[in-house]
Amino acid sequence: MTNALTTIDALDAAGLATGAKRELLERVVERFRLRITPEMAGVASGGVAAQFVPDARELVTRPEELTDPIGDRRFSPAPGLTHRYADRVILAVTQACEVYCRFCFRRETVGAAGVLPEADFLQALDYIARTPAIREVILTGGDPLSLSPRRLESVLARLEAVPHVESLRIHSRVPVVAPARMDGAMLAALDRDKPVHLVIHTNHPDEMTPAAQAALRALSRAGVAMFSQSVLLRGVNDDADVLEALFRGLIRNRVKPYYLHHCDLAEGTSHFRTTIAEGRALMAELKRRLSGLAMPTYVLDIPGGAGKVGLMGAAAEEGPDGWVVTDRHGGRHLYQDPERP
Ligand SMILES: *Cc1c(COP(=O)(O)O)cnc(C)c1O
Ligand code: SF4
Repeated sequence: MTNALTTIDALDAAGLATGAKRELLERVVERFRLRITPEMAGVASGGVAAQFVPDARELVTRPEELTDPIGDRRFSPAPGLTHRYADRVILAVTQACEVYCRFCFRRETVGAAGVLPEADFLQALDYIARTPAIREVILTGGDPLSLSPRRLESVLARLEAVPHVESLRIHSRVPVVAPARMDGAMLAALDRDKPVHLVIHTNHPDEMTPAAQAALRALSRAGVAMFSQSVLLRGVNDDADVLEALFRGLIRNRVKPYYLHHCDLAEGTSHFRTTIAEGRALMAELKRRLSGLAMPTYVLDIPGGAGKVGLMGAAAEEGPDGWVVTDRHGGRHLYQDPERP
């Protein structure tokens, strides 16, 4: 198999279609795009397939679910840009991804358009250039490493030319889900004067194929510092053995586990969501098994846009009505674990 799977027919032919009724799956992929790379289609495990294969349960939207679950659009000073924390911005340089994840918190926008138009990029660059508080620019998307190396190089070069921008960060799934893209041209584009931190999104140890391992080794040799972020997903990785294998695999491949995200309230994702208590119990168990270096921070992106909050410390308290989380400005927010569907 050499092409990405993008239709239910192709899934059927690959033996990956779920048991659900055909017409339901067609409705799911009309609403939320389908794309699975050959590398991920080639990993037979259920934990990997469930992240990418459409499921009829995605048609169920629960009352607490939101089209903009973490409030990115509320904090957008220029197209593609979100400025929530004073010293850093996220810049969505493309809406395209190599795979479309069934639980993505940006599932309403990914795949809809391609690369951020040049005029929009220039507006974002202008905002960054006249906002000296910004020290770090985080490229996101979509997936920034789905850009051509030439486009990526042009974006990175112009951002690092802003004197007060001290470091660049890229959030990507590509090194794991489409490792062949990490070729010499891509590595050259990532070789900058200013530091480049790559945060790799990966959720299951079986995603770490030999090709992914080779890509991570090449990135490390190119001087890119690597971290990971994972989403806690029911039926995929809500198991201490699976998470232990995931984080050990990352350390073996030169990647420092950074964040474990509580699953955001994106539409049609309730079947993936664990409770916060389940996540905390998993983290407590991992702490008994893993070195500090292998432990990520378990975080919730507070629905509505108040930012991320650690779920293992004093900022999260269980009360009679649900969890009360305290944001970095001292604001308190109620988070109720959704009822199981
Ligand atoms: C998550 C996020 C960041 C990065 O936060 P870190 O804690 O530095 O990883 C930056 N900006 C926005 C808007 C975010 O949602
Ligand atoms: S690769 Fe990232 S942005 Fe793209 S669909 Fe998956 S989670 Fe969403």
